[in-house]
Amino acid sequence: MRIARAAAELPREGEIGLVPTMGAFHDGHLSLFRAARAENELVVASLFVNPAQFGAGEDLERYPRDEERDARLAAEAGVDVLFAPAQDEIYPPGFQTWVEVEQLGAILEGGHRPGHFRGVATVCLKLFNLVRPRRAYFGQKDAQQAAVLKRMVRDLAVPVEIRVLPTVRDVDGLALSSRNAYLSPGEREAALSLPRALEARDRALLNGLEVDYFEEADFEPRVLAAAVRVGNTRLIDNVVLEGEPS
Ligand code: AMP
Repeated sequence: MRIARAAAELPREGEIGLVPTMGAFHDGHLSLFRAARAENELVVASLFVNPAQFGAGEDLERYPRDEERDARLAAEAGVDVLFAPAQDEIYPPGFQTWVEVEQLGAILEGGHRPGHFRGVATVCLKLFNLVRPRRAYFGQKDAQQAAVLKRMVRDLAVPVEIRVLPTVRDVDGLALSSRNAYLSPGEREAALSLPRALEARDRALLNGLEVDYFEEADFEPRVLAAAVRVGNTRLIDNVVLEGEPS
């Protein structure tokens, strides 16, 4: 595996599968790398902690970063190129062009994190234009993100296929997330009520946690999605409701 820092270092031959990430890899990321590996000639993983998708007072500065470990895990999972661009490569001086997926980007996560999906959609379109993948891989863990990006790709006729892979969970049911690293042992125990409440379709099980939302949404597939705060850590998760009456 090689590390590319600039667009000029990206491959220009072969059918590419792209996995956009912000690093701090766990088995959720690795499942996307493996899926991309199985379906494409070349696998590019991008590693970019995107300031535009963080709000003021969020965790941009303390977001976990360990490029050396990430590079090793990506190589082991079959990634060919780790694209870890500098800020200027994504946001050149004078940058002022944004992608807004208006309605889908404004509800649930978008309501609680204004501008978040504008940042996500913009960085993903930029990555698609730089890497030119045939397919791009995302996790169902971020169901609304997948829905927003599918909408963007349809609306703007972006020539990429969006592939969405199931949420990977720890043995205790907690969805893997780079942000789980923030949790103390006690907070981690408290956080388990998030997957339990979703699984039981019972908001009351979130008793004691600060709840941003616990709502159904038709993100194709329909999901029950929730966001909670455990101490200073904000966690999101969802379950697919396909086949259940609405
Ligand atoms: P992130 O690095 O957190 O931006 O995530 C990069 C990609 O990995 C996104 O498409 C996420 O939806 C996906 N992802 C994160 N956590 C999980 C998980 N537990 N299971 C499956 N995919 C995940």
